[in-house]
Amino acid sequence: MSIAWIDISVPLHNGMATWPGDEPFDREQMMTIASGDVCNLSRLHTSAHAGTHMDAPRHFLPDGAGIDTLPLDVVIGPARVLAVSDADAVGRAQLEPFNIQKGERVLLRTRNSRQPWADEQFREKFVAIAADGAHYLAERGVALVGVDYLSVGGYNAPDNPEVHQTILRSGAWIIEGLTLVDVQPGDYELICLPLKIVGSDGGPARAILRKR
Ligand SMILES: [Zn+2]
Repeated sequence: MSIAWIDISVPLHNGMATWPGDEPFDREQMMTIASGDVCNLSRLHTSAHAGTHMDAPRHFLPDGAGIDTLPLDVVIGPARVLAVSDADAVGRAQLEPFNIQKGERVLLRTRNSRQPWADEQFREKFVAIAADGAHYLAERGVALVGVDYLSVGGYNAPDNPEVHQTILRSGAWIIEGLTLVDVQPGDYELICLPLKIVGSDGGPARAILRKR
């Protein structure tokens, strides 16, 4: 019997939580069979950073690579879900106990994942990575960092750019907007595939986990 995959991507739908000022996800029905059209056809209006998505280095580094250059090895393979449930921000102190190794893929499960967040209004006070946490992840040399809300950096947080820049400059890739409600801490196999949008600073992604 095969072990079930857990979908850790949020459903993309009109009215979902959106970063303030960003383009909301909107699926517009252009044609419908019910009204006599030959097929059902939708048009998407969206930010490249809607729902579960990846940030390319270019998002915060002027000459950084686009999402289409993401090496597939980064987003397919073993990953560890780390529970940092009671912290207001994920700093060095929260991360040190996990003994993170070079090249690891780490997904941070915080209290953002107490309930599904994508159907609600944007939460200003979500748990984000603090600058010293970002520096710690960069020092450890992780390959991938995933978070369970729309940004690795906080909302209106002065260190938001530093958090992004530090992680991206280290060579790590970022997944944002995961839902880890149904995921226990531990070792998994990860597959996360963002859309191959040429030169883009990010791209919506489907991410799944399977227990190892
Ligand atoms: Zn992003």
